[in-house]
Amino acid sequence: MKIAVVGTGYVGLVTGTCFAETGNQVTCVDIDSRKVEKLNKGKLTIYEPGLDVIFERNTKEGRLKFTTNLAEGIKEAQVIFLALPTPPGEDGSADLKYILGVANDLGPILENYTVIIDKSTVPVGTAEKVHERIAKNAKVEFDVVSNPEFLREGVAVEDFMKPDRVVIGTKSEKAKRVMEKLYAPLVRQGNPIIFMDERSAEMTKYAANAFLAMKITFMNEIANLCEKTNANVDDIRRGIGTDSRIGKRFLFAGIGYGGSCFPKDVQALEKTASDYDYDFKILKSVMKVNEKQKTKLMPHLKKYFNGDLKGKTIALWGLAFKPHTDDIREAPALYNIKELRKAGAKVVVYDPEAMENVREVVGKKVKYAKNPYEALQGADALMIMTEWPEFRTPDFEKMEGTLKNKVIFDGRNLYELKDMKELGYTYFSIGRETAK
Ligand code: NAD
Repeated sequence: MKIAVVGTGYVGLVTGTCFAETGNQVTCVDIDSRKVEKLNKGKLTIYEPGLDVIFERNTKEGRLKFTTNLAEGIKEAQVIFLALPTPPGEDGSADLKYILGVANDLGPILENYTVIIDKSTVPVGTAEKVHERIAKNAKVEFDVVSNPEFLREGVAVEDFMKPDRVVIGTKSEKAKRVMEKLYAPLVRQGNPIIFMDERSAEMTKYAANAFLAMKITFMNEIANLCEKTNANVDDIRRGIGTDSRIGKRFLFAGIGYGGSCFPKDVQALEKTASDYDYDFKILKSVMKVNEKQKTKLMPHLKKYFNGDLKGKTIALWGLAFKPHTDDIREAPALYNIKELRKAGAKVVVYDPEAMENVREVVGKKVKYAKNPYEALQGADALMIMTEWPEFRTPDFEKMEGTLKNKVIFDGRNLYELKDMKELGYTYFSIGRETAK
């Protein structure tokens, strides 16, 4: 099939590359000319495990191309994916300016029957709006389908190639057949393609993200209560996660969720609810709790240094909002850097993949270490913000004598309390007693 993908970010680039890998002819379009130039030179613009191999193969074999020109990119395409940003607007609703802007542009340039697919996360009713915009100027038949994306950054290629399910919202039989053909190679193991109407598909994506954000937040609240009642949240996680009705995943307490999706999607769903005069109380609480959770370790840190962080150097391990990605959007690390600097502390950071992105946002306000151990040299304390595997079993012998104080503030519960006690650390974590 000939496919165009408009928007070549985390979702668009993975979508385009994976569909090229299943034999389609794909052109990705982006307005960012620097991005397109880099991709055309064979260089990836994001870090995503496994993407490099299939990107190289498909660009070399001429199945994957990039352009800034929309008309050129969609020429002869049977399907056009919209993988455009939907950032929060001022009132918290998803800003549709990118999607509707491209929809306006598409109308006059469609040449044959085309299926236009909303892959972005968009509020209920967006497919209808996109349809209206295109219809204003279109001279050919077309369908607008909602096909929300559920990939997780860090395992995006695997998620895309072997999705748990594919959700497709359309009332058009013709579009349904095109979508079935497109996704057939990805659901060979029998995972379902779930068809529904456009509005339900749009809502499914928000319901999934809001539910997951709620699950994390629930566990964070249990953790906060554990700290007050002297219970251990890790034991509770194991105790409830083994219940098949609850499930093991998304039960790890920590310093809150971040990323480009959960915060904005929870907010946008709450806004949709309020637009429809529905008071979605759980979502309001989820947002409130998560906001506080992100800087939860700060009071412990301040107390440890008798309320004064001025001139103290704090080492930060982990900047990305989660491991295996370079994405720092809404990352708890950024909030903590801000708080630390506000309190007068100096900050030294290390992350295996996200340093360049942080440098673009924070610049010289923090120091950048070449490896985790360099970050600790002469620092007064260590804070852990992201659960990268390399932080899970560090060389504690090598760490000896680097930190001025043997104290760790761990926002991701990476270590066992008894090990920390044995190693002689004062160890603060989430939802567990402080090891001393
Ligand atoms: P992104 O910011 O990484 O990428 C969006 C791209 O669109 C950028 O490269 C930007 O330059 C480009 N763009 C903007 N306007 C354009 C235009 N007029 N024409 C062509 N290109 C244009 O965003 P993302 O993380 O890929 O997210 C895209 C959508 O997918 C969002 O709605 C998001 O909520 C949703 N989503 C994201 C994820 C994720 O993990 N990142 C997962 C599922 C769904």
